[in-house]
Amino acid sequence: MKVTEHIERANGKPLFSVEILPPLKGQDVNCTFKTLDPLVEMKPAFIDVTYHREEFVYKQKENGLLKRHQVRKRPGTVAICAAIQNHYKIDAIPHLICGGFTKEDTEDALIDLNFLDIDNVLVLRGDPIKSEKTFVPEVDGNAYASELIEQVTALNKGVYLDDELQETNKTDFCIGIAGYPEKHFESPNLAMDMFYLKKKVELGADYIVTQMFFDNQKYFDFVKKCREMDINIPIIPGIKPLSTFNQLKTLPQNFYLDLPETLAMEVLKAKDKETVKQIGLEWCINQSKELLEFGVPGLHFYTMSNSINTQKIANAIF
Ligand code: FAD
Repeated sequence: MKVTEHIERANGKPLFSVEILPPLKGQDVNCTFKTLDPLVEMKPAFIDVTYHREEFVYKQKENGLLKRHQVRKRPGTVAICAAIQNHYKIDAIPHLICGGFTKEDTEDALIDLNFLDIDNVLVLRGDPIKSEKTFVPEVDGNAYASELIEQVTALNKGVYLDDELQETNKTDFCIGIAGYPEKHFESPNLAMDMFYLKKKVELGADYIVTQMFFDNQKYFDFVKKCREMDINIPIIPGIKPLSTFNQLKTLPQNFYLDLPETLAMEVLKAKDKETVKQIGLEWCINQSKELLEFGVPGLHFYTMSNSINTQKIANAIF
């Protein structure tokens, strides 16, 4: 079922949903089921599965030289979505990115997803890979999420790249997109980022999932700005508990967000790892409660494939 239908049918009751990563290369599908089993008890409306491009790994050679390889550490997004849908009968949502795909590759991927009864896609541009300073699309690929949306909506109308196809199957994907309450890191200012967000909505996006944030005011302001700009689709907040001391640094570095000073101060005062975890959990529970009071359409948890924290939070709030 489409995310928009889930929201409609819930009739004001907020949805619970999660994002997981596909298993590391070499692990089997039971790894994913082990992560999901405790979360499935909480009846998630849908489960997102991230998409990962190749990364460089360095291997020591016999002559002492390091050799660089490109490896996709987490392949299998589409197959794991199919496995989740078969196993749990819960909608799985693959993340679909521009990077590394020509338009033809994208069309083939969408055809696979359609055959697998996948109803939703989260459409993204993807980050630059580590060897590139800025994002470089494939020749004949999509350069922005907005272009990828255009391709999905075209296929939803039965328009394929080869316009001579006679009998064409129309897909019917519900399209999710990313939104950034603290602005996308490449955008010079929030106004410009919002301008392109609106473009994605005009081109056919059906709902927004936000980048994680730790200060609810950022989300409230973002929703207000969206509504002022006539962006009226559901805006699902994406959240995650801080769980290690190191994340004081890595979360802002990797996700370009501000951690509230109060949270940072509490973590800095913590004496051990368990206390840090507890502080992060409590912060996220309070954040979730306030978001539910605000009337969000759902809470989407970035599990990073660690189900325990998400389970604790969901148990405390739903
Ligand atoms: P876009 O919407 O294309 O925007 C990218 C930048 O370009 C922004 O600064 C925007 O303001 C600007 N822009 C947009 N359109 C135009 C235009 N037409 N002309 C000029 N500028 C423009 N990454 C992965 O690799 N795999 C994942 O599974 C994944 N999942 C994610 C899930 C969520 C919920 C979120 C929030 C992010 C996820 N990401 C993932 C990261 C995402 O791919 C990056 O943040 C990426 O840098 C931007 O993606 P986007 O879809 O927001 O890009």
